Amino acid sequence: MIDLRSDTVTRPTEEMRTAAAEAEVGDDVYGEDPSVNELETTAASLVGKEAAMYVPSGTMGNQTAALAQTEQATSMVVEAQSHIYGWECAGLAVHGGLQPVPIDGGPDGLYGSEELEAAIVQPESHRAATGLIAVENTHNRAGGIAHPPDALGALADVAAEHEIPFHLDGARLFNAAVALDVDPAELAAPADTVMFCLSKGLGAPVGSMLAGPESVIEDARRARRLLGGGMRQAGIIAAPGLVALSEWQRLEEDHLRAARLAREIGGIGDLITSDPETNIVIVDVSRTRYDAEDFVSALADEGVRALSFGPERVRLCTHRDLDDDDIASAVERIRSAVA
Ligand SMILES: *Cc1c(COP(=O)(O)O)cnc(C)c1O
Repeated sequence: MIDLRSDTVTRPTEEMRTAAAEAEVGDDVYGEDPSVNELETTAASLVGKEAAMYVPSGTMGNQTAALAQTEQATSMVVEAQSHIYGWECAGLAVHGGLQPVPIDGGPDGLYGSEELEAAIVQPESHRAATGLIAVENTHNRAGGIAHPPDALGALADVAAEHEIPFHLDGARLFNAAVALDVDPAELAAPADTVMFCLSKGLGAPVGSMLAGPESVIEDARRARRLLGGGMRQAGIIAAPGLVALSEWQRLEEDHLRAARLAREIGGIGDLITSDPETNIVIVDVSRTRYDAEDFVSALADEGVRALSFGPERVRLCTHRDLDDDDIASAVERIRSAVA
């Protein structure tokens, strides 16, 4: 089976397993796990922030960012197709008492300064004032599009003018850094807080990081506790995360393979493929006899796993557990499915 559903399916490398086995550990709820502490320090410095916190999932990273920077009965600006809005079980409302205010970012998943300005709600007796503003980079549902630092900077300027904190859901921040050939810290600079996943393309088994100012991360630790995410000897899972972080430049390989996959299956039958900027290929099946669900099951019959991404869109995601032969084989299997 060639698994192109997601970059979350990657399994830890030998080096990560060794790091896990040999990790120095302590009770992280007391701040005494040396491996977690090292991961947090390393992560913070990689994205140019004062402090960072290790969390079990990207979802918890986003939720703790919201809890740490807002008050109940306020609102939060989100992009309409973003993960934090649509794929976190209404967590903003449930945990934070927040009203999400979605802005449609269009095909590339990024709204503009004017739309942001118009969506901001000022404190007033009837209204839920904007407490936090969020963007996503790379944008998953837009097909892994990488937005450059100046695009985010323009939005951050609007946020700063209104003295509203700005959160970056950078689940795949390092993919964006590689695609744009910029320092991850430069990409994170416009944001007050940034979340990124260790468990996606970076290949670690578990966890994500939330980075930002020391005082915000301190509040986020309390929010993590509230959500039940305080962990004890978490160094066992943090140590492989450190290995993953030291190898982020290898994401380039996934991007090259995604580009090749898109190019080669784009010529098959009536499949239309996106021109991937990172590791995500979107396949449009609207001109074929399949809808997305049928196409995914036809692929599964040929030994390729993919993800339905809407009625006529399918996502294929490359990752470190796939090599060039797997891509060649996936192309052949997709050809058989379409034939
Ligand atoms: C995967 C993802 C998350 C959540 O990460 P989990 O570890 O699955 O909770 C958040 N935002 C984006 C954009 C993602 O792709």
